[in-house]
Amino acid sequence: MIRRRTILAAIAAIAIALAPAATAQAPGQLQVTLLGTGNPRPNLERFGPAILVEAGGQRLLVDAGRGATQRLFEIGQRASLIGVDAVLLTHLHSDHTVGLPDLWLTGWLFGRARPLPLIGPAGTAAMAQHLGQAYAWDIASRSKDERLPPDGVRFEARDIAPGLAWERDGLRVTAFTVDHGDVAAPALGYRIDFGGRSVVLSGDMRYDERLVAAARGADVVVLEVMSPEVEARRGQVDPAAMASVLRRHVSPDQAGTLFTKITPRLAVYSHIVPSPTTAEDLIGPTRKTYAGPLAVGYDLMTIVIGETVDVHPRKTMSDK
Ligand SMILES: [Zn+2]
Repeated sequence: MIRRRTILAAIAAIAIALAPAATAQAPGQLQVTLLGTGNPRPNLERFGPAILVEAGGQRLLVDAGRGATQRLFEIGQRASLIGVDAVLLTHLHSDHTVGLPDLWLTGWLFGRARPLPLIGPAGTAAMAQHLGQAYAWDIASRSKDERLPPDGVRFEARDIAPGLAWERDGLRVTAFTVDHGDVAAPALGYRIDFGGRSVVLSGDMRYDERLVAAARGADVVVLEVMSPEVEARRGQVDPAAMASVLRRHVSPDQAGTLFTKITPRLAVYSHIVPSPTTAEDLIGPTRKTYAGPLAVGYDLMTIVIGETVDVHPRKTMSDK
C-alpha cells in the first residue's frame, strides 16, 4: 500500500511538473491562485496570506497579506491590480491585512475608479474607516494633484456574520465560523461555489470540525497548517509559546484527520507555519491520518477546478 501510494505520488508530481502554466479560467471553472502561502515572518518565497479566486468573470481576493499587490501585478499587471471585485477577510490579524492599504491605494493610483467592496468579520468596517484617516493626507493630495476619482478610494466595507457573504451571477460565497483560539475571534472561513464546483478556504484555525460541515461535498479544501516538528527542530520556541501557537493552528496530522472526514478531490496547504517548512515536513505527518490527494501550496500555485482538478504554476507577466 505504501509502495503504491509512493508511486501514485510520484506520478502526480510528474503530472504537476509538466502541466502548462495557468492563465485565465475557462467558463464553468473555478480557478484558485495562492498569491501568498506564508506567515508573519518575512520570506521572499512565501508572501503573506492571500488567495485569488476567479470564476464567472469575477475576481475575489481572500485576505491581503504582505505582497498581495506585488503578486497580483505579477500575474496580470495593472488589469489584475485594479480588477479585484471584492476583498474578503478571514480575520483581522496583521499578516492577513497589511497588504490591504497597498492594494487599495495602489489600485486607485493605477486606475480603479469604483469603490472597493471589503467584507469581513466584526471590526472590518472600522478598519476601513481608520485606513481612510491614516491615509487622509495621501488621499487629499492625490485627489487634488492627480485628479484621481473620489469613488476609487472609497471602501464599501461590511461586517458580516456567518452566512451568505457574496452572491453575483452564480458565484456564491458563504462564511462560516472557525476557531482561531479564544482571543482571536471572530474568525471566518469561506466556501465559494460556482457552477457546481466549490472550494473551501479555512482561514486561520485550530482543529475544528465545523470545517468538515462547511466543506461537505467540496472539490478542494485549502487549509492552514503549522508544523510542531519544525518548530521543535528550530529550537527557537519555548514550550509555553509552542503550546500557545498550537492552540491557534492545525498540525499536519490534525489536518489529515479533517481531510479524511471531508474527502475532497484535492487537499491543499497554504499559510504554512513556521518558515522555512518543506513539503516533506508536512507530507509525512499528514499521511499518518490521510491517504487522499494532497498538494503543498507555493506562491502562485493555481488550482483549476472543473471536470478534473489540475494544479499549475500561474503564468506571470514581466513588468514593462
Ligand atoms: Zn491569524
